[in-house]
Amino acid sequence: MKPKEAFDRTRQLLKNHHGWMKGTINLIASENVPSPAVREALTTDFGNRYAEGPPGERVYAGCKFIDEVELLTVDLAKQLFNAEHANVQPVSGVLANLATYTALTEPGDTMMCLSVACGGHISMGKKKMGGTAGAVHGLRIEYLPFDEEKMNIDVDEAQKKIAEVEPDLLLFGASVFPFPHPVEELADTAKEHGAHVVFDSAHVAGLIGGNQFQDPLREGAEVMTGSTHKTLPGPQHGIILCKRELKEDIDRSVFPGVVSNHHLHAVAGLAISIAEALEFGQDYASQIVKNARALGKSLYERGFDVLCPDLGFTSSHVILVDISRYGGGRDLEKSLEQADIILNRNLLPWDIREGRHYKNPGGIRLGASEVTRLGMKEKEMDRIAEFIERVVVDEEEPETVAKDVRQFAQEYQDIHFAFKSAVRAYDYIDIYSS
Ligand SMILES: *Cc1c(COP(=O)(O)O)cnc(C)c1O
Repeated sequence: MKPKEAFDRTRQLLKNHHGWMKGTINLIASENVPSPAVREALTTDFGNRYAEGPPGERVYAGCKFIDEVELLTVDLAKQLFNAEHANVQPVSGVLANLATYTALTEPGDTMMCLSVACGGHISMGKKKMGGTAGAVHGLRIEYLPFDEEKMNIDVDEAQKKIAEVEPDLLLFGASVFPFPHPVEELADTAKEHGAHVVFDSAHVAGLIGGNQFQDPLREGAEVMTGSTHKTLPGPQHGIILCKRELKEDIDRSVFPGVVSNHHLHAVAGLAISIAEALEFGQDYASQIVKNARALGKSLYERGFDVLCPDLGFTSSHVILVDISRYGGGRDLEKSLEQADIILNRNLLPWDIREGRHYKNPGGIRLGASEVTRLGMKEKEMDRIAEFIERVVVDEEEPETVAKDVRQFAQEYQDIHFAFKSAVRAYDYIDIYSS
C-alpha cells in the first residue's frame, strides 16, 4: 500500500469502527465509553509533552498548566476515593500494580492473590504463566482459597493459609468480581503475619467511587490500585490511592520506577472524568448494579446457567454465565459478535479441572457498565437477554438478530452521567478535515 493510501485507509478503518459501535451492544466488563470532554482532552497538546517528576518539581520546562491539571486530578481522586494520597501517573492498571509490588516487596517475596481461573488478573500471575508479579517482579505466588459456590474468597480457608504461608503481600481484587472481597475479615490476620494489604480496584473503581460496592481503604487495605476506564468511565490510565505513610515509597516506585512519560492528556481526561464521577457517579454506579442484576435475572429466567442465583447473581457490574451446554465460549463469542453483541469468553473456576482451556472456556462474562452509560435501564436488560437467547438458544441466524440489535441500539447514542455535550457516544471526532 502506498503511504497516502495507508494513511487514508487507517482513518477510514477508524471511521468504520465508530460506525459499527453505534449499532452494537457492548457488554465487555472491562470497557466503557468516556464522556466527550474526556475524548477532547485526549486529542490535546498535553499528549505531546513530558513532565517527569512530581508537579512543581519537574525535570522538564513548559509544565505550568500541566502541573495545575495534575494537582487538580490528585485532589479530585483523593476526594472521590476518600484517600490520604493519590498518584495519577501510572499509565495503566498493570503498571499501578507493578509499582505497588515494587514499593512494598522484594523479588523472591510471597504474594497471595486469586488465580486467573478464579478471577485473578494476569498482572497477579506466576512467572511460569508470564504474569507481571512473577515474571517481572519475581514474586512467588500463593493462591487464595476460593469458594466456587459463592464466587468469592473462602474466608476460613484463607485465614488458615495466611497463617501457614505468611505472605508479604495480600492482594484483593479480580477481573471477575461479582461480590465484595472479605478485606475486613482478612486484613488483620494478614497484617499480624507481616503482610501488606492491597486492593486492586481495576474493575470496580467506579462502583467504589459511587459508594456502591465496598470501601477497601476503610476495611483495612493500605493501598488501592486501579484502572480508570472500566466502571470508572475515564480515559485508559491507572491510579494508586494509599495511606499517607506510603506516599514516598509509592511515588518513587511509579517514577522513576515504572513510568517516565505519564500520558498527560490522559491525566487531564482523568480530572474531567473524576469531576463527573463526583457529580453523577453515585446514580451511575447504582444503576449499573441494578442493570447487571436485571440482566442476570432475565438470562436465568430464559434458562441460562447464570452463576450465583441465590446471591442475586451479582453485587457489581458483572455476571458470569456457564454456557458449556451450548458449546464453548469462543464459538458463542463469535456468533454473538456476528449479531453485533460484543462480550467475552471467560474461564469458569472449574474449567481446567474439567478439561477445558482458556481458548474455548465454559463461560461468558457480561458487564453492564457501557449499556448503563448509554441510559439503559432494567427493561432494556430484558431486551438484551432476549437477543442473546435468540442467538445462543434458538440458534437464529446471527445476521437476522443483528438487524434488530442495530435498530435497538439506535435509541441509545448519548452519554449519560456526564455534563451536557452535543457529541454523541460513538461520534467520530474529525479534526483533520474540519
Ligand atoms: C484490567 C485489570 C487490570 C489491568 O488494567 P490495565 O489498565 O488494562 O493495565 C489489573 N487488575 C485487574 C483485576 C484488572 O481487571
